[in-house]
Amino acid sequence: MDHVISGVAKFQDEVYPTKKATFQKLANGQNPEVLFITCSDSRIDPNLVTQTDPGELFICRNAGNVVPPHSNQTGGMTASIEFAVAALGVSHIVICGHTDCGAMKGALNPEALDGLPHVKEWLGHCRCATEVVKERRGSVDHENLEEVTQENVLQQLQHLRTHPSVAAKIATGKVKLHGWVYNIGSGEVLCYDESSKTFERMSEAYAEQKLTKK
Ligand SMILES: [Zn+2]
Repeated sequence: MDHVISGVAKFQDEVYPTKKATFQKLANGQNPEVLFITCSDSRIDPNLVTQTDPGELFICRNAGNVVPPHSNQTGGMTASIEFAVAALGVSHIVICGHTDCGAMKGALNPEALDGLPHVKEWLGHCRCATEVVKERRGSVDHENLEEVTQENVLQQLQHLRTHPSVAAKIATGKVKLHGWVYNIGSGEVLCYDESSKTFERMSEAYAEQKLTKK
């Protein structure tokens, strides 16, 4: 913990002064363009991977980058999503899974989670991912980790669409959804492409968008 505490001092002495104008601008409000939903895994740094600064990403993290389907029971994810979409007016939502995800391994082997009752219940929200892969392949186990991770991103995007604030903005073209999987070992990010229905390298998945921007 010592290096974490000394890190705060280092931030205040060395980093803050170089970005003082940015922090002072942010002091009285935020206007992020992107709601970034990812796993709590310590190996993911959303701002580092996307090369963004404080104020640019509204970040929600939990084990397995799960978005529980909308219900009338309020939870942290539901409230944070509603705030990001309806109050802050984000125009993009990214759900970013990752390789070697412990939550996905847990979803593949729920019997091993008997001592972790809350984790087990939480990962029930990922069951649709394992069921889809099982139906597609005839069985599902650790060998299918990559496919389950990708499918989980797609299923959580489905859950996201059930949230009224999100549904309203999608229907009016004000919010766009993105499904990504970050590879911890290689740094690569695969993105779901709606037209090919596959996860592709970022440069390919967003090639069309790049062309229209030029
Ligand atoms: Zn994870």
